[in-house]
Amino acid sequence: MNRLKDIKCFLFDMDGTIYLGNELLPGVADFFRTLRERGKKFYFVTNNSSKGHSHYVEKLRKLGIDAQTEDIIISSDALTYYLDREQPKSKLFVLGTPELQETISKAGYTIIEDETTRPDLVVVGFDMTLAYQKLARACRWIDQGVPYLATHGDVRCPIEGGEYLPDSGAILALIKTATGKEPLIIVGKPNHYIVDLLRDRGSYARSELAMVGDRLTTDIAFGLNNHILSVLVLTGEGTVAEADRLGIHPDVILPRAVDILKYI
Ligand SMILES: [Mg+2]
Repeated sequence: MNRLKDIKCFLFDMDGTIYLGNELLPGVADFFRTLRERGKKFYFVTNNSSKGHSHYVEKLRKLGIDAQTEDIIISSDALTYYLDREQPKSKLFVLGTPELQETISKAGYTIIEDETTRPDLVVVGFDMTLAYQKLARACRWIDQGVPYLATHGDVRCPIEGGEYLPDSGAILALIKTATGKEPLIIVGKPNHYIVDLLRDRGSYARSELAMVGDRLTTDIAFGLNNHILSVLVLTGEGTVAEADRLGIHPDVILPRAVDILKYI
């Protein structure tokens, strides 16, 4: 808990951490106002690459949280950060929503639309517009030696009423089965690229960053893998029993995100 005092920049998961579906958890709007008053920086971090920054800004504003485009970090930002460093100027065949394609195009990458131009890479996102023909084309490119990578590996995206949507990880499983090949890299949480890009932006030491979230295998693993403070909140999926069962031990466990104020 003492380590919370040193945190200058908090990364918040959204669903299950600050809201549930379309309902803000109690006290959260005031919580963010107080954090700002106390000079703490915070970002909203999500693996869900099917939506763009403006979607999350609008959603947060509707819920009463004043957020700007640059406050939202999506796994698609980790993707362009990775590409800029490892595969600059690459031409991409993208299984992704128009929002993901827009983020990639804005970062200066060429998206190949036709079926005949060989791409440098195949990108797999949470493609809610996925069409069979495109999926088949992606598998053939991968067969022919084009490496593929993914924005994130979550298998299920929880939605209202306890339901879920098959997520990027499920699409990846299909591609892996069809091609027998593993992705080059999965850039979202729990990989390190989101931490790298934030450290670049704010010159933060690792001891000044914390990840606050409800999912052990993404949010908490992300904190632990990257040696930043990991804070599990019990308002979403993760439980203390599950943490024990999985052997994933958060640095801090709090009933709710708003409880952070007691320790800073
Ligand atoms: Mg969550």
